[in-house]
Amino acid sequence: MRCELCGKETGAHKPVFVEGTKLNVCPACTRFGDKFSGGSSTPASSRSVIEERLEKRKRRMSSRDVFSGDSEELVLDYQARIRDARGRLGWDQERLAAETKEKKSIIAKVEAGDITPPESLVKKLEKALGISLKEKVLSGGELKGPGGRGLTLGDFIKKE
Ligand SMILES: [Zn+2]
Repeated sequence: MRCELCGKETGAHKPVFVEGTKLNVCPACTRFGDKFSGGSSTPASSRSVIEERLEKRKRRMSSRDVFSGDSEELVLDYQARIRDARGRLGWDQERLAAETKEKKSIIAKVEAGDITPPESLVKKLEKALGISLKEKVLSGGELKGPGGRGLTLGDFIKKE
């Protein structure tokens, strides 16, 4: 039996509801599920950032279905990519702020995932750091993880 969230082999799976879908998950992943009783009354603030991002992504994916063609999306782990690239260059946030002509507080918020960088800042960050923060998303395509397998919550957790 594989956990349907993180993909780990588990002997003690448990059914939980995630976004109204019943999934068999390992004990570690039961916290991602909505509670059986009163799941809809769960306050939004108690939900994990990952869930919110997955949801946002899902919304973006479905809204894109009305358009034709591929589009570029901000990668989900942009914070890590920015931090890593900045670390490789040996820059502190102040330096990156100077290179992108942004406030240091903005850089800090972007790296912390508090704000999603606007298109203009994404471009500046990509240029300053020499990295790519965009990925091509095929319209109507399936999310694929490394090696072409389906992307699971585990992939997002690992990147945090
Ligand atoms: Zn799991």
